[in-house]
Amino acid sequence: MNEHDSEQILRLLEKSHYLETKDAQQADLVLVNTCSVREKPEQKVYSALGRFRKLKEERGTIIGVAGCVAQQEGQRLLTRIPYLDMVIGTHAIPIISQMLERVEVTGEKVCETGFDTEGEYLDTFLPQGQVSVVKSFVTIMQGCNHFCSYCIVPYVRGRERSRPSQEIVDEVSHLTQKGVREICLLGQNVNSYGKGLEEEIKFPELLSRLDEIEGVGRIRFTTSHPKDLSEELIQAHGRLKKLCEHIHLPFQSGSNRILKAMNRGYTRESYIEKIDRLREVCPSIAITSDVIVGFPGEEEKDFEETLDLIEKVRFDDLFSFKYSPRKETKAARLGEQVEEKVKQERLTLLQRIQKEITLQKNQVLEGRIEEVLVEGYSKQSERDVTGRTRNNRVVNFEGDLSLVGRLVQTKITKAYAHSLRGEIVPSDCGMPNADCGMKTLNL
Ligand code: SAM
Ligand code: SF4
Repeated sequence: MNEHDSEQILRLLEKSHYLETKDAQQADLVLVNTCSVREKPEQKVYSALGRFRKLKEERGTIIGVAGCVAQQEGQRLLTRIPYLDMVIGTHAIPIISQMLERVEVTGEKVCETGFDTEGEYLDTFLPQGQVSVVKSFVTIMQGCNHFCSYCIVPYVRGRERSRPSQEIVDEVSHLTQKGVREICLLGQNVNSYGKGLEEEIKFPELLSRLDEIEGVGRIRFTTSHPKDLSEELIQAHGRLKKLCEHIHLPFQSGSNRILKAMNRGYTRESYIEKIDRLREVCPSIAITSDVIVGFPGEEEKDFEETLDLIEKVRFDDLFSFKYSPRKETKAARLGEQVEEKVKQERLTLLQRIQKEITLQKNQVLEGRIEEVLVEGYSKQSERDVTGRTRNNRVVNFEGDLSLVGRLVQTKITKAYAHSLRGEIVPSDCGMPNADCGMKTLNL
């Protein structure tokens, strides 16, 4: 979500005649886009801002903070950091150019942290401008009504609000005409899509409409809440050709007692049932998830249940976090906070187990042919390009930039814990199962 916000900000500022630079020394404006979901990223904001103080003193650079920390702290940030010029809350991105103009013209400090509950900033969902990328995010809804007891999101992103389906269809069509091949639909809980809209539409129907758009190569979405994962959405994974065989379905804990305290609204049994059903409908589906260790009151046996669920489900990958108390949330006020040392031990053990599972699951792919959407040069070497499989695994292989934007058949030659190594299947390779050759979309 933050990555997408940064892209939107860049695009809006280009219209205000600002150009991107990676070198802060060159910049007339430095914006720090922030996350406050855990304490660590929040602390990073203050150290980043410390580094920009000199720029203000020496060059008069305009300094701003956007995102969840801006929303959470508001005016307090202006007091705490005297050289800060702009605080741009999560709903204020559409008016960022006007805010910047005020700073430029009057030199005053500006802070906007109102929530757009009345449709005041009708442009909150901004269509993309000129794009030259292979994949793109598209926001389909904002905010969250769930109030999981540990989570700051509903406080900093506001209540759920869905975007009319025609706007989404138009944006996706526009992006594909510009050459975008993969669309990732964004929302804190995409399964709630459609609530509150004038039209009668649910998330699986939206997916069906997008699947029909010519030129769309792949569709993904994030994130889906297990409580609201419907049978219709499960079936969409068996039915829709462009919907990738991957779902990110955060489980958070394997203990029913902790899930209840987290206010998640499902049990480990119902979670496992949904996974079984997904695998029945779409056997090749990759399943990734989020988990928190050390939630207040988590005992050894709760943690063991989490490990047990991990062993049973065998996720393709897992994002694991130590519980981080967030003020305003219910869990931060609970007694029985788990000691830091215990949290760290649990996290290390859990990550070790998952790493082994991920590696084993990747190794199964050795020798197989996988379709890869090529995104650009790999970070390691300019002789290699990188892309992702439909299962969302990273594959690196020898190639050049002429492959970018293409769906390429690759043979997996080596599996690692975080990526795969491959080689392009030549079009005349003659392998019976490969449907091989480079499959290229109409670019
Ligand atoms: N909406 C998504 C969902 O319900 O699954 C998750 C959004 S949240 C920004 C991403 C992940 O951060 C969560 O799935 C959770 O694992 C983690 N997270 C959120 N609050 C946290 C906290 N206070 N401490 C540690 N991890 C947290
Ligand atoms: Fe946070 Fe996701 Fe729960 Fe909403 S559903 S409160 S975003 S964890």
